[in-house]
Amino acid sequence: GTINVHDLQQVELIGHGNGGEVYKALYVPSRTLMAVKVIQLDVDIEVQKTILAELDILCKCNSEAIIGFYGAYFIENRISICTEYMDGGSLDQYGRIPEEILCRMAVRIVQGLLYMWSLKILHRDIKPSNILVNTRGDVKLCDFGVSTQLVKSIAMTFVGTNVYMSPERIKAENYGAPSEIWSLGVTLFELATGKFPFKEILMAENPGTVMNVIIEGNTPVLPQDVFSPELSDFVARCPTH
Ligand code: ATP
Ligand code: MG
Repeated sequence: GTINVHDLQQVELIGHGNGGEVYKALYVPSRTLMAVKVIQLDVDIEVQKTILAELDILCKCNSEAIIGFYGAYFIENRISICTEYMDGGSLDQYGRIPEEILCRMAVRIVQGLLYMWSLKILHRDIKPSNILVNTRGDVKLCDFGVSTQLVKSIAMTFVGTNVYMSPERIKAENYGAPSEIWSLGVTLFELATGKFPFKEILMAENPGTVMNVIIEGNTPVLPQDVFSPELSDFVARCPTH
């Protein structure tokens, strides 16, 4: 992408995650609102170049269900990634989502994943905070792990426990589309009920325990009396085993 840093006006801080901060910004020449994610990365120039080159594939992604990518750049030891601004924020901000709405969202999420998989791109971090909505009614996926080098560099700097990971991923076996569907199942369960499926374990014990419970295949099942058989069945089929 070609973003001129000097044409970008910071509006406000939107939020922050494990590794960085996200700002709302105005790109003055085109009067476009953008979300700029800034992550501190202490990597050398060659690694910076690799990351920017790998992110470039996002320019080719064109789907209603994928966040638009405007470009990325380094200033000293910080990378800025500029994407489409979504005025509804992310799904982790909504609590329980009514089934009728959630099912429509699920269709878009699956469309987005199928599109990216067709380009041989895996998301690698499906969870409510990486699903964005806007007041036009769009639902879009963000934060695809397209740059192996970026994923690696972030992992070296920040330690976090990803509780949406599938059993085979925790066990460091092969990662693929089935692992993404696992994360989608956990995500849909959480959005349908307003509660993370492994919450009790997560609250009561250390994070290592939740990983063990996931590995043992303790998969979330939606209560049949509250949700339609279709949604219950969909979520029940997400686990790989
Ligand atoms: P983690 O760091 O654990 O992955 P996260 O996904 O919440 O958590 P970030 O990706 O840094 O962390 O995003 C921080 C917040 O910024 C998100 O929760 C979301 O609400 C908001 N956000 C991110 N991208 C956009 C966007 N394109 N438009 C609007 N809001 C966004
Ligand atoms: Mg995110």
